[in-house]
Amino acid sequence: MHLLGLSDAQRSEIIEILDAADRFIGLDHQIKKTDQFSEALAGKTLGLLFFEPSTRTRTSFELAAQKLGAETILLDEQGTSVQKGESVVDTCRNLEAMGFDALVLRHGDRHLPFSVADRVDIPIINAGNGTGEHPTQALLDGLTLRQAFEHGEGAGLDDLNVTIIGDIVHSRVARSDVHMLNALGANVTLAGPSVFLPGSRDPDWNARTVTDRATALEDADAVIMLRIQSERIAGNRVDMDRYIDEWGIDQIVVEQEMPSHCRVMHPGPVIRGVELTGAVADGPRSLILRQVTNGVAVRKAVLQKILGDL
Ligand code: ASP
Repeated sequence: MHLLGLSDAQRSEIIEILDAADRFIGLDHQIKKTDQFSEALAGKTLGLLFFEPSTRTRTSFELAAQKLGAETILLDEQGTSVQKGESVVDTCRNLEAMGFDALVLRHGDRHLPFSVADRVDIPIINAGNGTGEHPTQALLDGLTLRQAFEHGEGAGLDDLNVTIIGDIVHSRVARSDVHMLNALGANVTLAGPSVFLPGSRDPDWNARTVTDRATALEDADAVIMLRIQSERIAGNRVDMDRYIDEWGIDQIVVEQEMPSHCRVMHPGPVIRGVELTGAVADGPRSLILRQVTNGVAVRKAVLQKILGDL
């Protein structure tokens, strides 16, 4: 079983992972820190192939795997024969031949996880494929929303209004979030300058699109802010001062444009002073560090599902 994206994920499958992640969080609270290691995935070896920068995703996969008793080996472009011209597919086939049990893959090429999954018999977990998808980020976002709005075990996100603001078209987080939010019954609004919005007939983006911040925020229960993916933009750059003015969230926007219960999320890295001011990122509406905490639990649940028994 692979986890390449959420476009075909069923509501029940997503809820199963969120419920398991919630149970891991419950366990972490019960067990003393020194006892936190489990043997659930003892004897398994996970390859972490990160060919693009990552802080949270890489570390939390590693931590999750180790806390479940698995071994992890990290590979990046610098230290592998990919730098000498070997294809990533060949690298992955070699790792499979060595006995790796699963591979977590981050790469700038959208098609790569699919090509690898076609050529190996071990599970591939997509940790971000260019502008494609970032399924575990969306799962941790779903868990964070479910906790924040007290939708308990077994529940989805029915009728929650979630707005995603920023560079939507280049964002793998937005794409996976939209699939997750649709599957769990939330109402999704995508907002940003029109160069960052998908075409209204694009079937991949089943959501309302809005081009002004006040409308995007007026009914929102939660807003997910996104970084501008400068590394993926060939043309169509935006004027930064204007972008911050029209789309950034500071304390004044919080007070004047957001409902009083609306929460703020961000997948990281946050560029303080662009998407959000520091005061908002660190303020009482922010769920950003809760997302990071949930990232470990969700990745434990995913690994347990794929490599163990859930
Ligand atoms: N960390 C997220 C990703 O890898 C979001 C971002 O980089 O802006 O897609």
